[in-house]
Amino acid sequence: MGTLFFFNLFCGPGSGKGTQCANIVQHYGYTHLSAGDLLRAERDSGSENGTMIDNMIAEGKIVPSEVTIKLLERAILETDNDKFLIDGFPRNEENRAAFESVTGIEPEFVLFFDCSEEEMTRRLLSRNQGRTDDNIETIKKRFKVYMESSLPVIEYYNSKGKVRRIDATKPVEEVFDAVKACFAPSGGTIAA
Ligand code: UDP
Ligand code: MG
Repeated sequence: MGTLFFFNLFCGPGSGKGTQCANIVQHYGYTHLSAGDLLRAERDSGSENGTMIDNMIAEGKIVPSEVTIKLLERAILETDNDKFLIDGFPRNEENRAAFESVTGIEPEFVLFFDCSEEEMTRRLLSRNQGRTDDNIETIKKRFKVYMESSLPVIEYYNSKGKVRRIDATKPVEEVFDAVKACFAPSGGTIAA
């Protein structure tokens, strides 16, 4: 069982996050699971949690762990693979602790796509995917939640030597090289 956590500061288009994920899937055999995509699919399926998930996303808040973890567990069980790239999760310490205790899974390492608030805002406002959370008000809230709740998770993994920090403001080819270095035998650079 191999699992990677992929953190991105909602860097949106430009960092080539989609390309990087596809590359990891293709070259290293991981199955990509995006917590946000799973939540949006659950919301759109008309499930009983749909309205709650819809409200949380529109407000940039973190959906309760049990909901997200159930979706991740289901997706993990649905595939034959035992290697997962879990994208956009865990978002807070409670997510992390609950996921580890429910699944017994700890990540091999954590890819941390770093990006400034200015760059992130610029990218999100230009992506036009019709998302309810890509507006300036919600972006500000998401950034605040990220700083307050998600950075402590990255610090936790950093203290265990597991974080591989990548500057996601660089051109997509450079980001791609940095991602590949993380999978090289030396394991890439450890975050400062
Ligand atoms: N979200 C959540 N828990 C997760 C992942 C996502 O609650 O584990 C919600 C949260 O409201 C977040 C939104 O889904 O702001 C969008 O997350 P996603 O990772 O898809 O987008 P990103 O923040 O990377 O643009
Ligand atoms: Mg994300």
